[in-house]
Amino acid sequence: MTTTVALECTCGSVKGELTVVPSDLFHVHCLCCDCQRYAQYLNNEAVILDEFGGTELLQTYPAYLSIREGIDKVQAVQLTPKGIYRWHTTCCHMPVANTVKSSAVPFVGVSVKWMKFATEQDKLAALGPVTIKAFGKYAIGAMPDDVHPRFPLVYMPKILGFMLKGKLRGRHRPSPFFNATLPVAEVRQLF
Ligand SMILES: [Zn+2]
Ligand SMILES: [Zn+2]
Repeated sequence: MTTTVALECTCGSVKGELTVVPSDLFHVHCLCCDCQRYAQYLNNEAVILDEFGGTELLQTYPAYLSIREGIDKVQAVQLTPKGIYRWHTTCCHMPVANTVKSSAVPFVGVSVKWMKFATEQDKLAALGPVTIKAFGKYAIGAMPDDVHPRFPLVYMPKILGFMLKGKLRGRHRPSPFFNATLPVAEVRQLF
């Protein structure tokens, strides 16, 4: 069942909505060093990272995400030359979503941190359980038993299918992060 989830940054300046379509998403727990470095860059690790240094993301299509307030307080950073664009708020340093460099790719990884749920049960009903648990080798402390040390390659065919379906249906746009093909805001490069 499709659900609409409200999005709001910690300080309330940036607001939006995400349409959650169960057939068009991957619910990811990522423990990679880049996600951890990103939280350090935002100087907001205590809020962003969980006890293992992990981040929860909902990977879906850009067309399902809208930002209706405060887009002027959203910027991106790129950690490495081939790295993704990591969009965040400038008001309260919250991760918003990740995209690739090209607006033509039907992919966005929305931070679960700024999704508003009344209860954990509501969250589970809307997003379902985490399906991909990746990069456990970078876990802070002991690696959780159920996390893959790197990326679980068994998901690659599903991800390729998701990309193909998104492309055929034109779900790469509209994207809140691109005006046609240009990023809507500065992309800071940390390299
Ligand atoms: Zn804010
Ligand atoms: Zn990561």
